[in-house]
Amino acid sequence: PGTRKYTGMVEDCCCDYETVDAINEEVLHPILQELVTLPFFRYFKVKLWCDCPFWPDDGMCRLRDCSVCECPENEFPEPFKKPYSGLSPDSMICQEGKPQATVDRTLDTKVFKGWVEIDNPWTYDDETDNAEMTYVNLQINPERYTGYTGDSARRIWDSIYKENCPKYPSEEMCQEKKALYKLISGLHSSISVHIAYDYFLDESANSWGHNLPLLYDRVLKYPERVQNLYFTYLFVLRAVTKAADYLEQAEYNTGNPEEDLKTQSLVKQLLYNPKLRSACPLPFDEAKLWQGENGPDLKQEIQKQFRNISAIMDCVGCEKCRLWGKLQVLGLGTALKILFSVDGENHLNKPIAFI
Ligand code: FAD
Repeated sequence: PGTRKYTGMVEDCCCDYETVDAINEEVLHPILQELVTLPFFRYFKVKLWCDCPFWPDDGMCRLRDCSVCECPENEFPEPFKKPYSGLSPDSMICQEGKPQATVDRTLDTKVFKGWVEIDNPWTYDDETDNAEMTYVNLQINPERYTGYTGDSARRIWDSIYKENCPKYPSEEMCQEKKALYKLISGLHSSISVHIAYDYFLDESANSWGHNLPLLYDRVLKYPERVQNLYFTYLFVLRAVTKAADYLEQAEYNTGNPEEDLKTQSLVKQLLYNPKLRSACPLPFDEAKLWQGENGPDLKQEIQKQFRNISAIMDCVGCEKCRLWGKLQVLGLGTALKILFSVDGENHLNKPIAFI
């Protein structure tokens, strides 16, 4: 109910809705579903500690979920350090006690062999700082309903929208600010869709399933939120295709030759898929941005706003939400870096350099 067909071009992008649906269904979704099960993509390296730089008084962040952050290393059950072996919820002694909210930090340090970490000017975390980083197995920590709601969640979204990517009346908003707003709104829609897709329906039966009314109330009822989801999708897709040569040559070495070959082959299938290339050759045209006189200043301003949003992720008071928030903001930050920063010094209009 309430679903309507979207037609025409995705606003500010270069492909139409039907094409995006078709390439997603036929090309991207099947390949990505397989890629995320492979070791290179199923482990995420992240600093999950809840050290919010903005609201030290946030009890939600301090007490409820962050108890896990303060456990000494030797308190972690041994299986946490090994590939997943079917932990029972009881063995997660440091966790808050709700299996659906816990994060398993499966360690697999081999996974990122051969990759050099470089700090990203669009994000708050220092990606080169290995201290306090953990590896999380995303396959056993899917993004879904966690029960995180109320003042803490509201404060995060309010601060993101009000202070860091305000929505002005459209005639007052320049393209670049509009793009930042749409990226965040698209991310928000994506989070809501995941909550609705995998919702905790019945406590007594411990059953999970779709929650269509929630999908409608939070996303489908607002065409703009759906449009922004498509915008964010195309923006990231453009960054991936722009980085194709780099991604093709990158080393996907996790110490498992068979799975690593599969990863490499799937990445190539995605990057050079003829259907994708012909149906949507330029998903988003980044060359149109930062052209005005104040381009460099505007870029500094928007970069600062995005970095702030990235910092706010440390204030998310539910660990699994923080995990996915950080992952997705890092993904958007990487896309912004690929599309907009050039040689680390923010020079504009020069060929992109990947290190
Ligand atoms: P919210 O989703 O909190 O929205 C707040 C307000 O923002 C709305 O009233 C509306 O005015 C506006 N808004 C909503 N959607 C959009 C949009 N797409 N574009 C523009 N404006 C919009 N909960 C989980 O169960 N699982 C998770 O994995 C999870 N991850 C989260 C990650 C982050 C970074 C954050 C901040 C929260 C996360 N949450 C998660 C909580 C979840 O996003 C909601 O905040 C919570 O479910 C309460 O929802 P709500 O109905 O109050 O509206």
